[in-house]
Amino acid sequence: MIYLDNSATTPIDPEVSKAMWPYLTEEYGNPSSKYYTLAENAKKAVEEARTHVASLLFCEPDEIIFTSCATESNNFVLKGVAHFYKDKGKHIITSKIEHKSVLETCKFLEGEGFEVTYLDVDSFGQVQLETLKKALREDTILVSIMWGNNETGTLNDIPALSQYVKSHYPNAFFHTDATQVVGKIEVDLSKTPVDFLSLSAHKLYGPKGIGACFIRKRELGLRTKITPLLHGGSQENGYRSGTLSVHNIVGLGKAAELAKLNYKEQHQKLMELETYLVNKLKDLFPAIQFNGHPIDKIPGVLNFTIPNVSNELIIRSLKDQFAISTGSACSINEPSYVLKEMGLNAIQIRSSFRVSLNKYISQEDIDRFCICLDHAVKSLSI
Ligand code: PMP
Repeated sequence: MIYLDNSATTPIDPEVSKAMWPYLTEEYGNPSSKYYTLAENAKKAVEEARTHVASLLFCEPDEIIFTSCATESNNFVLKGVAHFYKDKGKHIITSKIEHKSVLETCKFLEGEGFEVTYLDVDSFGQVQLETLKKALREDTILVSIMWGNNETGTLNDIPALSQYVKSHYPNAFFHTDATQVVGKIEVDLSKTPVDFLSLSAHKLYGPKGIGACFIRKRELGLRTKITPLLHGGSQENGYRSGTLSVHNIVGLGKAAELAKLNYKEQHQKLMELETYLVNKLKDLFPAIQFNGHPIDKIPGVLNFTIPNVSNELIIRSLKDQFAISTGSACSINEPSYVLKEMGLNAIQIRSSFRVSLNKYISQEDIDRFCICLDHAVKSLSI
């Protein structure tokens, strides 16, 4: 099986599973317990992981809190800000192509009386600063715009968008869903003035079921207050109660450490493989259209349309040898709203594919994929 659906999830790096194993076996202490070694070991492992995540993002370890996934981080920030600051304003801004965990949370908040503006994107799927400027208001309490899109890999200019919001509307918070980009492009929070950021381990060769949320400290080191999603034992400084999932946290920490260590080499490799794949696809399918931004993109993520084929039939015909997808695994039952917002029609959407590479893929894998895709397209064209 050649796995080309790494935007859905990545395989776990063997170094990550190795680092996790002791915390699934002999090191089972609860990091919140006190005074004995087993608990201290768990606590030390958690804090070491926190340091690795912070180092990857260029922030302070105590600005990172662990959650169960990016869906939780997104819910936590959007609901947490809305509920805590509702007396300051009830207006939220997001974009039309966010992940469902942002869009559905916004819908939920609309049901509670918040007003949400959903920004249009251009034909590359990017939010333009001018569009954001027109939507901002004095009662805007939160702007949530994703850093990289999960279906196309297109990047938003989050440094510029957040800079504008923070310098013109200092009372509005800025959140970015960076789930698809962390570990793949440079995310430097010392230069990017976002207040909140969401991420998930399983997109960067870590385990499923563990995410994190960056919460920027305010002036004088004060914590930004928001209403927690989970109430209970006040773990994670009261932001997120619940016994910490030590093995998963260690896995996320290791994944972050490896991402930081190998970033340049992996980035280069994925860029080269992507160019190789693009050229092969162009040769095989002269009518192919690539969706998303050609340069401002996550390396190794491609979305393309091959006219006159059904993506579902092709993907099914390749399923035992290759894993590719029609788009997001999180809204699989409906045609892509992301491509629709970028201007594709229903027929084009049904002929569109997402191929997302990982650090283990070789040129030979891509050669094999292209041969089989070509064969499938020839035999299944409609
Ligand atoms: N945001 C984006 C952009 C994603 O791609 C995903 C995962 N598909 C999520 C949020 C949700 O991540 P998780 O699976 O960790 O809940």
